Amino acid sequence: MSSSGFASQNGAGATYANGPSQNPVALYPTNQGYMAPPQPGYLNAMPTKEPTPPAPSCYNPSRQQPSPVTMYQQPLSLPASPNHRPALVPPAHTPPLANSFYQHPQQPPSWPPPAVNQASPAPSPAPPQPYNTGTSTPPVFQNTMQSPAPVPPYSSLNNAYMTAAPALNVVAPHTHQSFGPPQAALRGTLPPSGPPPPPLATRSDGPYSVQPGAMNRPMGTAYPSLQTAYQSVPAPQKPSPMQPAAQPYSTAAPQQYQQPSVSAAQLSPSLAALNLQSQMPEALRVVNLLQERNLLPPGAVTPPTPCLPQDLQRLNCSPEVFRCTLTSIPQTQSLLNKAKLPLGLLLHPFKDLSQLPVVTSSTIVRCRSCRTYINPFVSFLDQRRWKCNLCYRVNDVPEEFMYNPVSRSYGEPHKRPEVQNATIEFIAPSEYMLRPPQPAVYLFILDVSHNAVETGYLDVVCQSLLDNLNSLPGDTRTKIGFITFDSTIHFYNLQEGLSQPQMLIVSDIEDVFLPTPDSLLVNLNECKELVQDLLRSLPQMFSKTMETQSALGPALQGAFKLLSPTGGRVSVFQTQLPAVGTGSLKPREEPSQRAASKDVQHLSPATDFYKKLALDCSGHQIAVDLFLLSAQYCDLASLGCISRYSAGSVYYYPSYHSHHNPSQTERFQKDLKRYLTRKIGFEAVMRIRCTKGLSIHTFHGNFFVRSTDLLSLPNVNPDAGFAVQMSIEENLLDMQVVSFQAALLYTSSKGERRIRVHTLCLPVVSSLSDIFAGADVQAITALLASMAVDRSVSASLSDARDALTNAAIDSLTSYCTSVLTIQQPGLLAPACLRLFPLYILALLKHKAFCTGTSTRLDERVFAMCQLKYQPLAYLMLMVHPALYRMDNLTDEGALNINERTIPQPRVLQLSVEKLSRDGAFLMDHGIALYLWIGRNCNPSFLTQVLGVQSYVALPQNMKQLPELDTAESSRIRAFIDWLREQRPFYPILHIIRDESELKAEFMQNMIEDRTESALSYYEFLLHLQQQVSK
Ligand SMILES: [Zn+2]
Repeated sequence: MSSSGFASQNGAGATYANGPSQNPVALYPTNQGYMAPPQPGYLNAMPTKEPTPPAPSCYNPSRQQPSPVTMYQQPLSLPASPNHRPALVPPAHTPPLANSFYQHPQQPPSWPPPAVNQASPAPSPAPPQPYNTGTSTPPVFQNTMQSPAPVPPYSSLNNAYMTAAPALNVVAPHTHQSFGPPQAALRGTLPPSGPPPPPLATRSDGPYSVQPGAMNRPMGTAYPSLQTAYQSVPAPQKPSPMQPAAQPYSTAAPQQYQQPSVSAAQLSPSLAALNLQSQMPEALRVVNLLQERNLLPPGAVTPPTPCLPQDLQRLNCSPEVFRCTLTSIPQTQSLLNKAKLPLGLLLHPFKDLSQLPVVTSSTIVRCRSCRTYINPFVSFLDQRRWKCNLCYRVNDVPEEFMYNPVSRSYGEPHKRPEVQNATIEFIAPSEYMLRPPQPAVYLFILDVSHNAVETGYLDVVCQSLLDNLNSLPGDTRTKIGFITFDSTIHFYNLQEGLSQPQMLIVSDIEDVFLPTPDSLLVNLNECKELVQDLLRSLPQMFSKTMETQSALGPALQGAFKLLSPTGGRVSVFQTQLPAVGTGSLKPREEPSQRAASKDVQHLSPATDFYKKLALDCSGHQIAVDLFLLSAQYCDLASLGCISRYSAGSVYYYPSYHSHHNPSQTERFQKDLKRYLTRKIGFEAVMRIRCTKGLSIHTFHGNFFVRSTDLLSLPNVNPDAGFAVQMSIEENLLDMQVVSFQAALLYTSSKGERRIRVHTLCLPVVSSLSDIFAGADVQAITALLASMAVDRSVSASLSDARDALTNAAIDSLTSYCTSVLTIQQPGLLAPACLRLFPLYILALLKHKAFCTGTSTRLDERVFAMCQLKYQPLAYLMLMVHPALYRMDNLTDEGALNINERTIPQPRVLQLSVEKLSRDGAFLMDHGIALYLWIGRNCNPSFLTQVLGVQSYVALPQNMKQLPELDTAESSRIRAFIDWLREQRPFYPILHIIRDESELKAEFMQNMIEDRTESALSYYEFLLHLQQQVSK
């Protein structure tokens, strides 16, 4: 008998046996939708009939197990060169392709695939080969960034593009006389405010002409054969009323009924919806970027809605969780090539959700062929058979699935929560685990060298841990341990029964051993007092230290040995370049090169030590999170590998000092609180599947690609984003829609094995105009940013910058030549891509890719890490901050949430033109908020909001708005609180005056203005126009 049930909580809720007391589906907003995590790899093909296949993880050492990779049937065969597009001859007037992202695949970094040890969870005595074992077919450990399919050597492809377009900053637009060349003699002067109005000469009488036909056709085409579960199934035969409720299935023979065919009447609402949308192609409205200056919407940029019938879209995944760069999928790769837009998915799979249906069932229904989880976009042929929407295999509906625990009725498989929710979580039955789910294990590694202690960080970490010790996710099995290090490694015996913690020093850093292996990692509940003792005494223990060296590498090796039997999370706090022992690094940054105008060296790691160790960790379910606090160069490009390949997180606090840099300290404290208390999943794997014909080929984020499409995530956290690139391997000619499914299998901190599944459905289109109409400019920008980071490392920064610029040029050229039929002057874009050039310029000016302005190497590398790791919503604020005027807030158009009135000021362009000295302006940069107060700021704002009588009375380094009992104060505080509530981390508010050091940071984000080394937005548009019209 099935024990079906639900919980309405986000992962941790109680499950209900045999039917919930409330209907979890009804708890959803009707337009709900979340993202889809990829699917775990080691689910057995036929859970109830076959022996459980081995996990890809290192479980169950004693049994001989076949490799999970060989057991697992890949849903899609990978083409020889997945991202090599067929030769597409550009139109004669298309500018020559310089660096395009769509041309050459990244070359996987050379990395000898290590052998795999499935069988030995015990720490291997020989660390260099921790995976070697005797399993039959060792899974190929792939390079994390690339699918294992052979790809053409990068160099040969790259050669074709060596004649790159001139670097952006040397192109002087000359069509507009009032602007000198970008690097003209403005050195040392303030950036001019925005450009003058564009020349009238570009005005055209017919800016809205679009290719005939493109606008008349329904954008998504019709769905004549699409049959969804919930709309086409006739009323199911009711179970016999005599049947005991507890045995609902025992007598049910397959209930034959006619396969419902979709009649025109049934489809008409969908078609009507399509027609309605096709009549308003706002996305395709032609915008002359040189003329329209106010391109930003008044509020946040919203993602496009896929052009699907309403009843499908109602069930679709939320764009906050799962987004595609193109919400209308091209029918063929050649059509995609023609659009010159990147195709890929952006995921935020473990996002904190307020409503998440959780299902407990002994049978998780999946496609027998491709292992897709049943989802809202499958079709039921009849009550007993469903057709997979990814591979089209027809599957049987298991007996248990006939019972709907929500309605507590029988014979309604199409009403099951799995078929009604695009995001759902399963509590996995035993065949999804090969060892008992691991406990929550936390190990903290703390730098206690003189340099570290001097920054004062140790007090902050210890105090934060003391404050949050009871909020660490876990249960009665939770374990904790500590390692400190300088030139030696210090372990701490915290065994129950000791009167105080014992420090055990290991000075042989060449061969780190565990002095008392059984008492270094202890049960948090049983040994809490000793742990608290240690945390209270640690800061003093090293206050007099004169040790200046850092043996980070050996400390990490010790951590690996300690955690490898269980897996868990390692949190490393490091304040300097590791200088002794294995993994030691040398300074590589040349400060004189920080403002280099072209290429930046040393973006790739100096040693493979950290990557190798990360792969060892990954193989033993250990993730390493790195907190780097330093004023000096630390070689984040090398150190960051320890987190990147073990699915950890990187935090960076340049110039950290508890006393000298209070704003960093505050951010560090807030970050730590979030870090220590946020949800965590252990021993996780994620798999992303897509409909046959599509192929996923490159992944972005922090993880390790274990097999073709299986991401190994020793830890998963709710603040991690991922991106994948896709290509179209087989034409999708007969398909109206395609689906993507991400499944994340993880162990919760309470020791439950869970699977979170997200499914996204998108229409397939056959015309270029439809592709453009569905373009998601933010998702495109985010994917291009990740691709450009890879390009910076594999080729060069200038190469990546050129490719970014060319992405805008190529897509606008394609739009102008293939979608628009009437040529007209100006720089034309469809409304949905009107922000594309602005975002590309913002990326070119972002710390990751900027040239010509002094940027520390570690800060640049960190910016690159963030571009690859941040979920889309936060990433976009980091790339293009939001600017608001604050001194004239009104309640007009305000939101009303929980009886709070939240003003909604208009988002302003990022230009000093928009600032005025008599105002106050707030910039939301994602991780920080800047409130700039003009020198002549309205006196009433100063008194009513800031509580000072005059501008000169405004204190430096003010960080908080006083809680004044005035309408102005309430409005601005309500607005800032509302901004903060929308993200899981806590952005610090900096109140800055004209003289503040932070003013430069504020002004740096004025993306639309010219700087010494970069074009203004208007100049950039002229450059694009020049290239597009070539
Ligand atoms: Zn299938």
